[in-house]
Amino acid sequence: MQASQRIGNILGGGSDGWDVFNKARAMMAVGTPVTELTIGEHDIRTAAPILQDMHRAALAGHTGYAAIPGVQALREAVAARIQARTGIETKPENVMITPGGQSALFASHIAACDPGDRALYIDPFYATYPGTIRGAGAEPVCVQAHAADAFQPRSADIAAAAEGAKSLLINTPNNPTGIVYSRATLDGIAEVCKDHDLWLISDEVYDTQVWEGEHLSPRALPDMAERTLVVGSMSKSHAMTGSRIGWIVGPEPMIDDLINLATHTTYGVPGFIQDAALFALRQGDAFEAEIAEPFRRRLALAYKVLAGQNAVSAVPAQGAMYLMLDIRSTGMSGEEFALALLDAHHIAVMPGESFGQAAAGHLRVAMTVDDAAFEAAVKTLCDFAAGLQTKA
Ligand code: PMP
Repeated sequence: MQASQRIGNILGGGSDGWDVFNKARAMMAVGTPVTELTIGEHDIRTAAPILQDMHRAALAGHTGYAAIPGVQALREAVAARIQARTGIETKPENVMITPGGQSALFASHIAACDPGDRALYIDPFYATYPGTIRGAGAEPVCVQAHAADAFQPRSADIAAAAEGAKSLLINTPNNPTGIVYSRATLDGIAEVCKDHDLWLISDEVYDTQVWEGEHLSPRALPDMAERTLVVGSMSKSHAMTGSRIGWIVGPEPMIDDLINLATHTTYGVPGFIQDAALFALRQGDAFEAEIAEPFRRRLALAYKVLAGQNAVSAVPAQGAMYLMLDIRSTGMSGEEFALALLDAHHIAVMPGESFGQAAAGHLRVAMTVDDAAFEAAVKTLCDFAAGLQTKA
């Protein structure tokens, strides 16, 4: 028996770009110590009071089917949070709670695109994007951002690809580049969406991790709320990756359709997880700042190391838990460099090519080990690049 073409094509026939990650995991499985800077997972666990609240909610009996759009108090809390942060009126009816941001990305594309529709996304991109779009039955079409523009996408390039497209997926603060889209970038994107009648799917899962400037949600731009689906998540903001809790915020009729989809797919999110999420949101801004702080600190440490050398340069990260490094001076591809670094120094980073062609010759370094280990790894990486540069 054959599986459907749709599921067989999720990876699009290409490599999934996870070779370095898989090799690092294989080394660790046989006991080789590896400095693991590949994936976006905090080096802390979910805070104990959040888990205690989850435990309390489960013992109190919130273990049956929960309301499919999300429990009302949590929808209200998310709506209030978004309204307070963006100034745009947001009601609980504009919010659907999802099992994490990833399922929200998938559901958003199902909601925005018919089978075969062109769905735009920006390269460099979070590794699941093209597969998510294919899984939803649409055709992924990437628009390249450029290192020379610090990876701020050009609206003219998006407009040039927009003919016949249904949606555009953006991500700010950005994984993998750490770039926060400027007001000018977002204004340009909003114009293209209105001119070409596109749904804007705005992945804002790193919205609490901004080191410079501020996070702007494009849903707050003029006439954008009616065509924007915001994807949010508590994975990064509250170190709750394993709890699988996030949301979609959008126009009420679209949320109604998404609730129908959830009724036939996820059937909602466990009630005790939603209760703990509400408890976590109530911890407030200071708690979220505390979760984000190590990444801000480690970015500053990396800049100190980078200032003392010229083999490696940094993309000017303004947010998210990653640092993107340009290693083109070594003459190597990101993939060659990352594999060589893993072999020589047991440091695992992601090749830029895992996130599309626009990030070729770059590395994505997740700032997810303690400060001293992180600083030492960046130093070793720079020294390694300098050695290669002399040979090149
Ligand atoms: N979007 C981006 C840009 C991400 O980096 C991630 C996770 N790494 C997600 C969405 C999905 O996050 P989750 O499903 O854990 O909410």
